[in-house]
Amino acid sequence: MNPCLLCMKPIKDITSWQSFFGLEKKKTLCDDCSKRFVRADIKEEGDVLDAVHSLYKYDDAMRDWLHQYKFLQDVALAKVFAKELRQSFSNKETIVPIPIHPERARLRTFSHVETLLEEAKRPYIQLLEKTNTGVMGEKSKQERLEMENLFDLVPGASIQPITYRLVDDIYTTGTTLRQAATVLKQAGAARVEAVTLIRSIQK
Ligand SMILES: [Zn+2]
Repeated sequence: MNPCLLCMKPIKDITSWQSFFGLEKKKTLCDDCSKRFVRADIKEEGDVLDAVHSLYKYDDAMRDWLHQYKFLQDVALAKVFAKELRQSFSNKETIVPIPIHPERARLRTFSHVETLLEEAKRPYIQLLEKTNTGVMGEKSKQERLEMENLFDLVPGASIQPITYRLVDDIYTTGTTLRQAATVLKQAGAARVEAVTLIRSIQK
């Protein structure tokens, strides 16, 4: 019996012909934890970022999941939404994850978006890198927001006149996704869409 990835309670075995033949995918969450996650499927349209599809609203359940996954670095939790994420893409899309900061990569923090895609078994291409902004400490936050360009193309990246699908864990103000979309469009992308697991609406 495997434990629920969130609450660690054992998950009841299902006895059916599917489990007998090993066809049923192992559940990652118990029924009580599964019930907490309610699909929202929020679809929004914009300018530089043509369209965004967010699978879940930011609520208590998603806050707990995100905290345990991203901040406590419980990498196994990437499995929880693997199927949902896999189904949100068509087969031939060019998927571009939002990269982590080089400082975090240096500290060997896992790349949470890439790990989600790996669990979802969706191939992706990393075309973007975070710009390293080492001297920003002296400037005010407002100055930083105005001048800081969060992303560059990775060296040698070639952008085609096609649609790219950005992927991020959470969409809040949209600054991150819009900046990433701007870089891709300036390099020749025809259309930039995004999929995010969570949509957080600021009040
Ligand atoms: Zn549970």
